[in-house]
Amino acid sequence: MEKNTKVQVTIEDMTEQGEGIGKVDGYTLFIKDTVIGDRVEAKVIKVKKNYGYARLTAILEESPDRVTPLCPVAGPCGGCQLQAMNYESQLLFKQRKVKNHLERLGGLRNISVEPVLGMEYPWEYRNKSQFPVGMNKEGKIVSGFYAGRTHSIIETEHCLLGSPVNEQILALVKSHMAGFHIAPYDEISGKGLVRHVLIRMGKKTGQIMVCIVINGKKLPQAPLLVKALCEVEGMTSISVNINTERSNVILGKELINLYGPGYIVDQIGDISYQISPLSFYQVNPEQTEKLYGTALEFAGLTGQETVWDLYCGIGTISLFLAKKAKKVYGVEIIPAAIENARANARLNGIDNTEFFVGKAEEVLPDYYRRVQQETGEKLYADVIVVDPPRKGCDETLLATMIQMQPSRIVYVSCNSATLARDLRILCDEGYEVKRVQPVDMFPMGVHVETVVLLSHK
Ligand code: SAH
Repeated sequence: MEKNTKVQVTIEDMTEQGEGIGKVDGYTLFIKDTVIGDRVEAKVIKVKKNYGYARLTAILEESPDRVTPLCPVAGPCGGCQLQAMNYESQLLFKQRKVKNHLERLGGLRNISVEPVLGMEYPWEYRNKSQFPVGMNKEGKIVSGFYAGRTHSIIETEHCLLGSPVNEQILALVKSHMAGFHIAPYDEISGKGLVRHVLIRMGKKTGQIMVCIVINGKKLPQAPLLVKALCEVEGMTSISVNINTERSNVILGKELINLYGPGYIVDQIGDISYQISPLSFYQVNPEQTEKLYGTALEFAGLTGQETVWDLYCGIGTISLFLAKKAKKVYGVEIIPAAIENARANARLNGIDNTEFFVGKAEEVLPDYYRRVQQETGEKLYADVIVVDPPRKGCDETLLATMIQMQPSRIVYVSCNSATLARDLRILCDEGYEVKRVQPVDMFPMGVHVETVVLLSHK
């Protein structure tokens, strides 16, 4: 294959990033802005030994799965990779992706992956948005999203996945900035103050949190902005986050509370959760309920069980399970999240949970060793739930889980590739995959969440 060659190709699959994959005489090409089933013409722009990249020049025949994206900036914005595909096909794509990973990367055979649990209305589902703030060429303050894989801001106040109220909040922040000549942060020079606006909303309670991320110690005329924001219905918590680092990380460590209790409350099922600006909280609450419901079902609790919930965040899954278990232990690396977890247990009158701050791969093995030294017995659990970040579970943790031999392991995963790797390890050591249930937490995006039930043979 040579650069600048024009090719005609049918798109057969899609990458993690949502690029279409087509083959020309066995040579793989990645082509953006295409959909599985499209017949396209493309120009090769980059050639590697076994694969290359091509730019779409014309769609010769549209895929039956193709739809016109509802969002005018769906193409340039990095957020929605699958908007040009109808929702049914998105779900089938995700089911196939999980199955492929489990088979190819996990070497698991004859696994049935259940149909993905999707949304009835797959829009406006996000309870959290983080808008970068910048300046356009005309010197106007703008906010929006980063264009795919870059840091240039695509101006969009109205994101179809977020809450409609975001627009109103962003307008107030920008008008405050313009009124008091507060400059947006400029990544290249490292100068300017306002970096991001983080907005979170409790979808069940209607409570809203706004956190302004700044490159400095103080937001000028903050009380006036607070006053303006408090006019927005549901405004509950306003804060400033200090981030003076020259990095891509959005939030810094220090928070200054400007208004309210420092958190908002939301509900999933019949459990209430306090959420602070720094804690992790699932972004799609409607689907989270399905996700946790699946985890609960897979855990098979009767009220007698001892459960460990590793990577527990603010204790969301722990509390969901606690009502049906004898005792739930949660482990999480972020201290503030554990503070939330403990407060959430109290808030819900749940007294059979215990939370530990630390790395799961240190806390559990240490605890295991201590129990063994002190009692000569193995640390006992009926069920272990893990919900790790994208990189999956640490091997040390998996080794301890295997030593503990719980009858069931419920693995909640946001990355089916690392899930497959970890399942391989567990299946080599006496576990068997019983159920695989993907849940669509991110309609229009490529990611898929999966809950797996493993049982000890
Ligand atoms: N179960 C929770 C959180 C899942 S996200 C929920 O559904 O809301 C993964 C969590 O793992 C995050 O809260 C992150 O802070 C935490 N984490 C990341 N690395 C960790 C580690 N090594 N040990 C423990 N927790 C970790």
